[in-house]
Amino acid sequence: MRDISVNTDHRELRQMLDYLGVAAFLIDVVSADEFLLAAINSRHEQLTGMKLREVAGRDLDDLLAPEMAAKVKDKYRRCVEERAVIEYQETLDVPIGRTFWQTSLVPLVDEAGNVTRLLGTAHEVSSQVYLEREARYQSAVLGAYLDESPDGILVVDANNEIKTWNRRFLEIWDVPEDVMNARDGDAALQAVEEQLEDPDAFVQRVKELYTSLGEEEHGLRINMKDGRVLERHSRGLHGPEGEYWGRIWFYRDITLMQRMAEELERLSQTDPLTEVANRRAFMEALERECVRVRRHGSPLSLLLMDLDHFKQINDQYGHAAGDVVLKECARVVEPEIRASDYFARIGGEEFAIVLPESDLRSARQLAERVRRAIAAHAFDSPQGALTVTVSVGVATTVSDQDESPECLLIRADKWLYAAKSEGRNRVRSRDDGEGGDNPADH
Ligand code: GH3
Ligand code: MG
Ligand code: MG
Repeated sequence: MRDISVNTDHRELRQMLDYLGVAAFLIDVVSADEFLLAAINSRHEQLTGMKLREVAGRDLDDLLAPEMAAKVKDKYRRCVEERAVIEYQETLDVPIGRTFWQTSLVPLVDEAGNVTRLLGTAHEVSSQVYLEREARYQSAVLGAYLDESPDGILVVDANNEIKTWNRRFLEIWDVPEDVMNARDGDAALQAVEEQLEDPDAFVQRVKELYTSLGEEEHGLRINMKDGRVLERHSRGLHGPEGEYWGRIWFYRDITLMQRMAEELERLSQTDPLTEVANRRAFMEALERECVRVRRHGSPLSLLLMDLDHFKQINDQYGHAAGDVVLKECARVVEPEIRASDYFARIGGEEFAIVLPESDLRSARQLAERVRRAIAAHAFDSPQGALTVTVSVGVATTVSDQDESPECLLIRADKWLYAAKSEGRNRVRSRDDGEGGDNPADH
């Protein structure tokens, strides 16, 4: 075996190399499979945590894990065989941890023409490698997000050039792929216009947002011609110095959610048995109309209706038959009222009608029509046709009085009670033009 101890040449070489900003190392080539680390410079020590005195003269196999040593020796062998400078990237586990290097190997040839040594210089590129890995990771995450997102996503840069979009965007907006591939923001905007219920407002708002760089938009509703409803979120994209990079748009198809919300709203206002408005919706309507009365002074009337001796119907024919009567009753009343009237079931066998713009006279007429229609109707029952009657109390706003729903309800209820006590199947109210609104006055 040759003497590989550090000689004077190496020391001089090392002194020179120590001042370079790269990690330098010298390899003694013993055979095609045996390489000894002859020397490393200070920079190398610094970057790897290796110490020259500990590693000088040691076999590569002693210094590196077998797999890593095999890879390094492959490079060394190639440099020896090719007798040429070779460059490569490598990963090395050194005392300070895993490091990444951009390495050049120079073959040093002796007088006999043999490559006896290799001079290596290496730049540490760990931070770049880690950055690249992080960037690749981020791009994989972003790619997955774009692919899987339930939102249609579009990114347009500061020059109105389309930078990216996802599959869902194309599903939501029927934009031809060649328009997208041309990356022209204006052309894409044109392509979506014809799908919109109100294209002008849409285009105007988009342009507005392109000029208000910092503005964010959350949950704008967009109605499509085909009945779909979209929700849009959008925000500007800015670089680290605050420079404008463009804008990202998210489009969410909320058609189903919207329909469900509408259906829920409808259900919350509807009596499930008769499918007319329920007490809650009735109270809201009455409140609304009372506000209008206060504002415009137009008359408002209220009918409270209670089916007569309904308990007997249940007792005689059963609760289910009673339910059928309630349903039929709603169907009998409906044709008698105007579209602007508000008909509701407000209790077990109690109904009410809010009559906007109706004075006492017309309210009484309607109440009478309804009473007669119910009395004349042949209701279904297991034992054949059945007659049902209703008592009705009517109250009307008094123009010089500040009317409240409670006030109207109390008065209508009193008149309903009067109708009951006077024998049922009748309409009772304050008589036109005379007396107070108290049944006891009459
Ligand atoms: P009146 O003429 O004084 O109003 O007599 P009535 O029997 O109608 O009055 P009462 O308030 O004593 O009885 C109302 C009955 O309505 C009692 C209840 O069993 C019945 N009822 C309430 N809600 C329902 C319902 O949803 N379905 C059925 N089938 N019956 C109901
Ligand atoms: Mg009752
Ligand atoms: Mg009753």
